Amino acid sequence: MSTLSELPDPRVTAVRDLPARPDGDYVLYWMIAYRRTRGNHSLDRALRWARELNKPLLVLEPLRCDYPWASDRLHAFVLAGMRDNQGRCAEAGVAYYPYVEPGPRAGAGLLAALAARACVVVTDDWPCFFLPRMVAAAGERLEVRLEQVDGNGLLPIRAAGRVFPTAFAFRRYLQKTLGQHLGEGPRADPFLRLRLPAAPALPAEITRRWPPGIPDGLDALPIDHAVTPAGRGGSVAGHERLRRFVDGTLGGYEASHNTLDADNTSGLSPYLHFGHVGAHEVFDAVMRSAGWSPDKLKKNAGGKRHGFWGVAQDTEAFLDQLVTWRELGFNMCTYRDDYADYDSLPGWARQTLADHAGDPRPNLYTVDQLERAATADPLWNAAQTQLVRDGVITNYLRMLWGKKILEWSPSPQAALANLLRLNDKYALDGRDPNSYTNILWIFGRYDRPWGPERPIFGKIRYMSSDNTARKMPTRDYLRRYAA
Ligand SMILES: Cc1cc2nc3c(=O)[nH]c(=O)nc-3n(C[C@H](O)[C@H](O)[C@H](O)COP(=O)(O)OP(=O)(O)OC[C@H]3O[C@@H](n4cnc5c(N)ncnc54)[C@H](O)[C@@H]3O)c2cc1C
Repeated sequence: MSTLSELPDPRVTAVRDLPARPDGDYVLYWMIAYRRTRGNHSLDRALRWARELNKPLLVLEPLRCDYPWASDRLHAFVLAGMRDNQGRCAEAGVAYYPYVEPGPRAGAGLLAALAARACVVVTDDWPCFFLPRMVAAAGERLEVRLEQVDGNGLLPIRAAGRVFPTAFAFRRYLQKTLGQHLGEGPRADPFLRLRLPAAPALPAEITRRWPPGIPDGLDALPIDHAVTPAGRGGSVAGHERLRRFVDGTLGGYEASHNTLDADNTSGLSPYLHFGHVGAHEVFDAVMRSAGWSPDKLKKNAGGKRHGFWGVAQDTEAFLDQLVTWRELGFNMCTYRDDYADYDSLPGWARQTLADHAGDPRPNLYTVDQLERAATADPLWNAAQTQLVRDGVITNYLRMLWGKKILEWSPSPQAALANLLRLNDKYALDGRDPNSYTNILWIFGRYDRPWGPERPIFGKIRYMSSDNTARKMPTRDYLRRYAA
């Protein structure tokens, strides 16, 4: 029995709780969510096993073709990240097995075949979309120790033990507890001074049946080719973006992040979503630039948005998005399987929407009209065009985009389905805990009742394009994204 499995670690869960096999050929890291080789808790854990057992590390990074919304856009982003990981592993002498599934179910059996020769398998603990089901199914099938490691955010996702009704309640909890977790960050570069035995060649029956490699083109893959590539994926591009943000617009973030200029925010959500950049890496870069140390933390910040970290207002405002709002979604997805369901909304929200279910809806659009940005509202059409073309919607407009879909759908339930469909299909950062936090926020999750009570919305917070246009200049944005 090895010692590592006996050490309690709030970020590690044994999905298949068997002792590690010291006679295996390697430690296998099944990389499914944190697609990076720096600042990665799962990779750290796999390397600890490899050192303890004195075995090589094998990194398997697969990409399925049959998950919902698989498209050229999502594939191209992930493949760019795989090329970065391939380069880094080659430099460090770590065996890397990229596998891009050429057809539905073609990859079935690869994990089991590699795991059969492994001492232990380590994977990523991502709390939503199809990943939890996939990992649980692997745990039932594999005859080897399988651990999932949580590298999602500053707070371990299983630490709180409950969900929170508001961002304020979660922030107050974070302010009381986060201090004790700040020392648990992953290693900045786990490949530094790495000395492990070389991995043995894999049997030809494995590499012939599941050829490793990263394809140059996407045409042959059975995925949606109409959703075209947008943005440059991968850790290299993600870190360039992070550096640009920290050296540039972070300084004015508080005032400018709710404007229509996309460059006023970090643009990191796609990289965070695909795991090309980790939340700890963003936190470290931001705090390094602020000259911060943990002794600046304020003990009694009382759940307030500013003042907890003891840094400039702009940095506090950014950290509230990166930590409070981002991790709120991870918290919900960890504890509630119904995180994306209409019935998970708070009672007051369902009640007020039900009270107004019969209200006249003068502007109804089908999901097809919405998808084609064919409404009578030019600002909304521009936001939808940006989503379809670039895979993102500028921060502030995303709220308006969601609220109008509630107004223009035949029922709130239909609006939720429309929102999930459009966001998951086109947004680079979709299919993420943040997708569900924010889409359900449109309908009242984490919010409170607002007055005056309005048609269709009832007491749900209302937004209008006219108000948005009054608050900020829209001309350039409208020109850029003319539908
Ligand atoms: C209807 C709707 C749908 C949304 N869908 C998604 C989604 O699918 N994926 C997604 O990551 N975000 C989503 N958001 C939240 C937010 O719009 C994006 O996170 C943000 O615009 C991403 O841009 P950025 O990386 O430049 O953010 P920045 O302002 O630079 O913030 C840094 C990081 O903080 C986190 N963050 C920022 N705002 C929020 C927020 N409101 N809630 C949770 N985390 C936040 C993100 O991880 C973001 O990358 C949605 C918002 C709305 C209103």
